[in-house]
Amino acid sequence: MDNLAKVYPIHDNLWAIDEAGKTLMYLYAGEKRVLLVDTGFGLTDLKALAASLCPGKEIIVVNTHAHGDHNSGNNQFDTVYVGRMDEPFSYRQMDEEGIRDFWEGFLQDNPRTQGVRIEDWHPGPSRQVIPLTDGDTLDLGGITLEVLETPGHTIGSICLLDRTNGYLFTGDLMLTWEVWGQLESSSALKVYADSLQRLASLQDQVTEIFPAHGVPDNPFGWPLYHLPPRTLTVYAQGTQRIVDGKDVGKPYRHPGSLYVLFEIGGMAYDPKRIGVEK
Ligand SMILES: [Zn+2]
Repeated sequence: MDNLAKVYPIHDNLWAIDEAGKTLMYLYAGEKRVLLVDTGFGLTDLKALAASLCPGKEIIVVNTHAHGDHNSGNNQFDTVYVGRMDEPFSYRQMDEEGIRDFWEGFLQDNPRTQGVRIEDWHPGPSRQVIPLTDGDTLDLGGITLEVLETPGHTIGSICLLDRTNGYLFTGDLMLTWEVWGQLESSSALKVYADSLQRLASLQDQVTEIFPAHGVPDNPFGWPLYHLPPRTLTVYAQGTQRIVDGKDVGKPYRHPGSLYVLFEIGGMAYDPKRIGVEK
C-alpha cells in the first residue's frame, strides 16, 4: 500500500509524506536519530519508508495530537510521544464503525486509495505512550526540537520548534482552510487564541511552518506542505478578533458552529465556548 504515500523532499534531511492526499507527516533527520511527526492513517509502512530515506537511524515518533488521521499508524511502533493532555486519548483502538466512518469520510473517494481494501487497513495505538510537557526537548543529534504546548484544536495539541533552523511543526493548529476549533476535544476559543498569540510572538524566529494537512491547489500557490511565517500573525489576530467580539462567524456545516475565514485559512468555533464574559 506504499503507493499511497508520496514523498516530497524539502531539505537534505527533511521530507514531507503526503498520505492518500489527505494528511501530512514529516521525517526530520539529525545525525543520530530521525523524528517522525505523526503516523497518519497507518496505511503506509513508515519504518520501511524511514529506513529507505535515512538508513540506520533510530526513529522517534511524535504525534502532534491524538486524532485518527494523525496517529493511526502508531501500532507500527513500540513507543510514541504525544502532548500530555492528549495522552489519555492515545490508547483508543478504532472500532469497526470508526474504521468505516473514516474510510467513507476520508479515503473511499480518493483515487489513490482505489485498489486498497478496508479489510487491509489496521489502524491502532502504540504499546507505550509517553507524555510530552512544554519545554521538553528532542535531541536528534545536531538538531534539537522544543515542545510547545499549544492547546486549541485539541487540548493536548503541541508544536515542535527547531530554533536553530526556524522550522515549526504545527499539526492541525493552522491550515490553508478553516481549522476545526469547535470540536468537543478543542479548548475554549480564548485558550486557542492564547496559544496562537504565543506562536505569533515567535514569528521572527520561524522560517518555515509545516502543517499536518495541505492541498496542492491551495489558493496561495505554495507547496502543499508549507505555510509562510506570517500565517502565525494572521491566525493570532483573526482568532483574537472573534474572542473580542469584533468578528462574528457565519453558520458552519457542523450544527451549532460558526466560522470566520482569514487572509490565510480560518477558524471554526463553538460560539458557546468562546471563554470570555459577555
Ligand atoms: Zn486533528
